[in-house]
Amino acid sequence: MGVGEKGFEETLKPEVVEKGFCAVCGACVSLCPFGVIELRPSGPELVDNCLKCGNCYSVCPRYELDAEAIERFAFGRPRRPDEEFGVVRKMLLARSRDEEVLKVCQDGGVVSTLVKHLVSSGMAIAAVLSGVSLDTPWLPEPRIAINGQEVLECAGSRYSYTLNLMSNVGTSALLGFLEGRKAAFVGLPCQVAAMRKIQMLPVEELGWHKAFGPIIGLFCTETFDYDGLVKLMREKLGLEPGDVVKMNIKKGRLYFYPREGEPKAVRVKELADLVRQGCKVCTDFSAELADISVGSLGLEGWNVVIIRSELGEDVFNSALKADLLETRPIEEEPQVIDVLRRLTEMKRKRGEKRS
Ligand SMILES: Cc1cc2nc3c(=O)[nH]c(=O)nc-3n(C[C@H](O)[C@H](O)[C@H](O)COP(=O)(O)OP(=O)(O)OC[C@H]3O[C@@H](n4cnc5c(N)ncnc54)[C@H](O)[C@@H]3O)c2cc1C
Ligand code: SF4
Ligand code: SF4
Ligand code: SF4
Repeated sequence: MGVGEKGFEETLKPEVVEKGFCAVCGACVSLCPFGVIELRPSGPELVDNCLKCGNCYSVCPRYELDAEAIERFAFGRPRRPDEEFGVVRKMLLARSRDEEVLKVCQDGGVVSTLVKHLVSSGMAIAAVLSGVSLDTPWLPEPRIAINGQEVLECAGSRYSYTLNLMSNVGTSALLGFLEGRKAAFVGLPCQVAAMRKIQMLPVEELGWHKAFGPIIGLFCTETFDYDGLVKLMREKLGLEPGDVVKMNIKKGRLYFYPREGEPKAVRVKELADLVRQGCKVCTDFSAELADISVGSLGLEGWNVVIIRSELGEDVFNSALKADLLETRPIEEEPQVIDVLRRLTEMKRKRGEKRS
């Protein structure tokens, strides 16, 4: 489809928003050069005349996502039929050796360690991350980190959605263009897919692919409504959100760790009403289009790392060479592959059933 033939009303509105497929990621709003779409809780809405430039649907992860074209662009080849988790160069277990990261990270701290290394060494000009509000406990918000301290402030997982792609993309791209260096990006699979489409936008003189990379993806089953999580903490668990220091999903339960006392947990199945609509049609568990994908799959203090691209391998090896990470073969935890397979299949089936 060529630019100028179709606009928002012929594409995203009927095919994504009205069908309930929208991930509410904000990429379309962020990339509309004329500011004529605004993000609402159920997705973007047209608020002025669409000039049919084509940007919004070109970057949408839920509209004509050509995974094979992205794989050729990012990995130099499409996945083979036997690659059930997407293109994989290497899969291994890893954890940080950085004491500062280990104090604040979610699992093994691989993500913060890689990003801290990228911005501290100057390999990246900045990193587009998800942080947390200073005033409202557990409210995730987009951040641009330009040094190690700012990376540490974003460590840990928040299980509600951040509009990383909304307010950060333009600013970090500008930084990249000005400095001639790329901004790293950390995000959930839907955000990774949007970032790939942004990198592939055919704007030669700007070259979005020159502005972003590496793209680090997090494993993701779903995200929950923020207000619903707060209500649950207060009303069902008797916890004040400001007193909760960590949340973690393990063996089908979401655990809340208070500053003092024992953790409290709810079964993830009981949170079905809090799952965002766009997550119910999502088919990507392990961020299959990222340079490096990271999760924990229930391991304590370790990460499962999937290195997918040459760039991802270079970044990971650079951190290894700087003695920032320790690794183990994935074969030492054989159950991990079964869990990855189960969650990958569960998401594909759940998403395909509903779409
Ligand atoms: C919503 C969500 C669901 C997840 N589901 C699973 C799962 O089902 N199974 C599994 O194995 N792993 C899951 N993960 C990944 C896991 O929680 C860890 O992020 C991952 O193991 C990396 O650990 P780490 O110690 O290296 O991270 P850290 O070094 O602590 O770094 C975490 C990074 O995550 C980013 N981040 C935090 N919250 C969000 C958010 N809401 N949106 C986008 N980015 C965020 C921050 O930018 C930070 O840089 C999920 C993560 C999130 C955010
Ligand atoms: S990005 Fe272009 S096609 Fe999309 S809403 Fe804006 S003007 Fe219309
Ligand atoms: S999925 Fe993202 S890019 Fe697509 S319509 Fe929804 S908000 Fe826009
Ligand atoms: S399940 Fe995760 S990756 Fe998929 S739409 Fe929801 S937040 Fe995005």
